[in-house]
Amino acid sequence: MARQEKLRAPRGTFDVLPDEGRRRERLLATTAEVLGAAGYEPFDTPVFEDTEVFARGVGETTDIVQKEMFSFEDAGGRSVTLRPEATAAICRAYVEHGMHKLPQPVKLRSWGPFFRYEAPQSGRYRQFTQIDAEALGSDDATLDAELILLLSELLERLGVRAVRLRLSSLGTAATRREYSDELRQYLRDRADELSEDVRARIDRNPLRAFDSDHQATVRVMEEAPRLLDRLAPEDAEHLEAVRALLDDAGQAYELDPKLVRGLDYYTRTVFEFTSDALGAQSGVGGGGRYDALVEQLGGPPTPAVGWAAGVERMLLAAGDEAAAPGSAVFVAVPKPEGAREAFRVARALRAAGLQAQMEQSGRSVKGQLKHADRLGAGAVVIVGEDELEVKDMHSGHQRPAADVEEAVRLAGEALAPAVEARP
Ligand code: ATP
Ligand code: MG
Repeated sequence: MARQEKLRAPRGTFDVLPDEGRRRERLLATTAEVLGAAGYEPFDTPVFEDTEVFARGVGETTDIVQKEMFSFEDAGGRSVTLRPEATAAICRAYVEHGMHKLPQPVKLRSWGPFFRYEAPQSGRYRQFTQIDAEALGSDDATLDAELILLLSELLERLGVRAVRLRLSSLGTAATRREYSDELRQYLRDRADELSEDVRARIDRNPLRAFDSDHQATVRVMEEAPRLLDRLAPEDAEHLEAVRALLDDAGQAYELDPKLVRGLDYYTRTVFEFTSDALGAQSGVGGGGRYDALVEQLGGPPTPAVGWAAGVERMLLAAGDEAAAPGSAVFVAVPKPEGAREAFRVARALRAAGLQAQMEQSGRSVKGQLKHADRLGAGAVVIVGEDELEVKDMHSGHQRPAADVEEAVRLAGEALAPAVEARP
């Protein structure tokens, strides 16, 4: 028989093994808690959309649309795209369901897989997971500040290390158009100092020159005219209002005129959280206001603001937190004949709200106790031929139980210290 090549997960993707799965589940539960407390409701859109949604929504000149989309023709000959980001699709849904008729702002939270055809490396994958929070239907500066502070709180609760926040404003589309012309002229005047990449993009997307790490380009950009100095009075006021709210909340940030973000749809507020605990891919989450996007996708004029944060990067930057052991019960079965009774005991434990599993691999009694230890069980119920015993794994004490009910109660008592000790 010919030897077959080993099958592997596609390049830039990964399997989530149980250790990681637990961490992800905790992260999502914390997210639901933090965002739910501020009125953000669960919401979801499909994993793929008409390519048009992203081509029109994200912007034809962005890296995402130019080179990162997984687009293909389906069997019906339509061009569809695996979603590379959430905002454009959320706006599509807002328009499709007439959500402007709901009380505004509409506050939504979402999470799920996203796809970008990128060069895979640590913290950069072709399928990754994002959490999103969006508030549509109001330009109130408290929403910008609220969303920034919610992401900040989330990162803190998750233990994400060495976090920094950068903030800026991109003004309105009109201001940006005028400014882009000014910047194009400036870049053309100093074109011979710029990297080839930046030079090639002067016409298409001059703002991206601020993202370059090419040394001479960086020097040119230090002296470039700044969009922050060109803001219309009402946009400058909006930024001041956001800043005042962040200051009141004691939120540290750096006002960074070079922050441009990789998406075309932003207006006014833009921000990004980075972690110095990460290498080159330091962005953990970011977002901003997109006051023109809903209208651009066929809806009524609808100011909106939101952010996206990368689950894998947040977990990378959070390091390993200690597991909380001792909250589960293991049901040991010394003789195979006891399996039916043990099965009943495990179900009774779970019905009482405890975490329980039984021996299911034919181990010796000694092996079963060792396994219970490995699982971090706080109690073991031993199902003998005619008797039940409950072993407290913290004290080592073993006590008989008259019936299943008593075994459940004793197991619960053995777990109590561990359950109470958890914050
Ligand atoms: P980067 O500058 O790293 O390319 P980005 O500006 O493209 O990030 P956004 O579009 O703002 O990122 O997406 C929000 C978040 O999603 C990022 O801060 C990051 O945590 C995460 N993210 C983006 N692309 C990837 C990817 N390819 N793999 C893993 N996480 C990603
Ligand atoms: Mg990117």
